[in-house]
Amino acid sequence: MRPSPAGDMRPSPAGPVRDVVVVGGSIAALTAVETLRLEDFDGRITVLSDEDLPPYTRVPLSKGVLAGRETADDVVLAPLSDEVDLHLRTPATGLDTANRTVLTPAGPVRYDGLVLASGARARRIGTADQAERVLRSYDDGLRLRDHLDRAASVLVVGGGFLGMEIASTACTLGKEVTVVDLAPPLDRLLGTAVGGHVRTVAAQAGVRFVLTHGGVRLLGTPFPTAVETADGQRLEADLIVSAVGDVPNVEWLAGSGLPVAGGVLVDERCRVAPGIVAAGDVAVSTTGDGALTRIPSWTNAVEQARAAAKALLHGDDAPVYRPSRYSWTEQFGLDVKMVGPGDPQGEPTVLDGSLGTGSALLAWPDANAPQTVVAVNHPTPPAKLKRLLARATTGVAA
Ligand SMILES: Cc1cc2nc3c(=O)[nH]c(=O)nc-3n(C[C@H](O)[C@H](O)[C@H](O)COP(=O)(O)OP(=O)(O)OC[C@H]3O[C@@H](n4cnc5c(N)ncnc54)[C@H](O)[C@@H]3O)c2cc1C
Repeated sequence: MRPSPAGDMRPSPAGPVRDVVVVGGSIAALTAVETLRLEDFDGRITVLSDEDLPPYTRVPLSKGVLAGRETADDVVLAPLSDEVDLHLRTPATGLDTANRTVLTPAGPVRYDGLVLASGARARRIGTADQAERVLRSYDDGLRLRDHLDRAASVLVVGGGFLGMEIASTACTLGKEVTVVDLAPPLDRLLGTAVGGHVRTVAAQAGVRFVLTHGGVRLLGTPFPTAVETADGQRLEADLIVSAVGDVPNVEWLAGSGLPVAGGVLVDERCRVAPGIVAAGDVAVSTTGDGALTRIPSWTNAVEQARAAAKALLHGDDAPVYRPSRYSWTEQFGLDVKMVGPGDPQGEPTVLDGSLGTGSALLAWPDANAPQTVVAVNHPTPPAKLKRLLARATTGVAA
């Protein structure tokens, strides 16, 4: 049986929410706090974050921070107002829903409204004795930058957006770069036409691609210095970085009774249980066909956190959450923006420009009812891209 959000979602019989605890220290947490205040919530807000830095954006970590152009000052987001209690280095370690209490090493924290925004961490494929290099936090970024300084060659395991951005930054720093993956990098996200275009540009910048059906094993301790592919190839590099996806931070919810299945399960208004909502990389929802969907992207974290905060305050009167499915990546001099679920099949319809000339606006499966739209070095702003898709799904003119 599929898990479902727990319990009756009508507003809590305990009355209006007065004391909100937000668990998480990044964009979903910050957006939830801002939205609560915009909705005129004047009760107490406590934010519990296990990080050293106040809420910051991860987006520049694989770009400006890794390249050495940006520092903590550039990534830290707008400060929370004085009326919010921000507790850094304070992990939530457990949740007692019966007593409405979040457990922390510093003691229990009571809530009557709770926002789960604990995000995700980097997935690892190495063994316990390997110090696998990943990129998720600001500290990871500083460490990786330091390792890059001393490396002539870099091997990136995983050619998704993150792996390819790391490869791109390593290229600009003059490194010899290899990307290894199970399938042609970016095809699954952007379709074969755009994926192929980005790989061509990357190859022209010097990136070597290795495909291996069956994955790789990291070799060497403490730091991996080689990988072995399933077909027995050995690839060596001074620096090996894993960019193989993320894992939602849900372990602290063990025993709480909340529904967890590859993330915290939310309903169509981002509610998990009475008085509890979730947003961002930690949240997973069911689609019409019952499949579980998680959308780990910046825009989703922002949009979902807004919806979750409203649902916490207004219950069934809050709007149903409809993700815009907008995301983007910057790599190899290409600015790629997309709306839609990704994995577009077949040849796109060209709405403007062409990949050959370097600037293109493309739609799948066709121009009249696009399900995915991708802009490559094309000036269409994100809001217009979102409208193109909304027009197709609602039939409303943009
Ligand atoms: C290097 C990098 C580059 C990216 N670039 C892009 C991009 O270009 N475009 C894009 O759309 N997306 C990008 N993303 C994805 C985007 O950053 C994430 O989707 C977004 O950060 C999700 O926000 P979140 O607040 O849900 O989760 P997170 O950012 O994961 O934040 C969760 C926070 O909760 C804290 N936390 C976890 N557990 C606990 C606990 N038990 N108690 C207290 N605190 C806890 C964590 O330390 C963290 O501060 C990038 C991600 C990375 C790593």
